[in-house]
Amino acid sequence: MKIEIIKCLQDNYSYLIIDETNNTACVIDPSEAKPILKFLENNKIVLRYILNTHHHYDHVGGNIELKKKYNCEIIGFKGDKKRIPEIDTLVDDDQIWKKDNFEAKIFHVPGHTTGHIAFYFFKEKKIFTGDTLFSLGCGKLFEGTYEQMFNSLKKIKELPKETEIYCGHEYTLQNSNFCISQDPDNIRLKEKILEIKKKLADNLPSIPSLLGDELKCNIFLKAKDLKSFSKLRDLKDNF
Ligand code: ZN
Ligand code: FE
Repeated sequence: MKIEIIKCLQDNYSYLIIDETNNTACVIDPSEAKPILKFLENNKIVLRYILNTHHHYDHVGGNIELKKKYNCEIIGFKGDKKRIPEIDTLVDDDQIWKKDNFEAKIFHVPGHTTGHIAFYFFKEKKIFTGDTLFSLGCGKLFEGTYEQMFNSLKKIKELPKETEIYCGHEYTLQNSNFCISQDPDNIRLKEKILEIKKKLADNLPSIPSLLGDELKCNIFLKAKDLKSFSKLRDLKDNF
């Protein structure tokens, strides 16, 4: 499987997971149809599935147009049946979703929204975390509680350290400013900030990030308990 990172809207990322054996693909969180259609057409790839992490418009905005064009199947959390446009297939926590050569484990990770899920492609060791876990940050709590988000991040933390994190936005550099303000002596974080700046200067995404690195550098993953996590989340909202 090959991953293609598609920049959308202001700072969103949609991801194509491409099965090169037959030139078909799934898309994670199509923010808008246009840049995705362009890539698919230029590369003669057929879109089969749309996987939505949550219902926010910047993650589902391309659903209707892409489905119209490719008649693809739309997959999302069962609890978001009424708010994911054109949803076909409802999935639940801990379920394995498998179609053709695509296979992912579903994690229900509430906090940013109550129905947020992550797609863990375990054979490839890649997880698509939407707006739950960002590189060096985590999502804002729009619908869920601090405790839900803390527990959602805990599930992701338990994956193998070499897991690649693909998140919904390019927020890494802004996030790094908060991490370093809270953790000024972190040598690995300082190195990572240089790496991020280099990538962005070359107009490359800072994504994916390795879970092992996030465990060392992401202040929200380093929070030992719910109380310190909650305090960090509040501080970040006013940073
Ligand atoms: Zn969102
Ligand atoms: Fe978003």
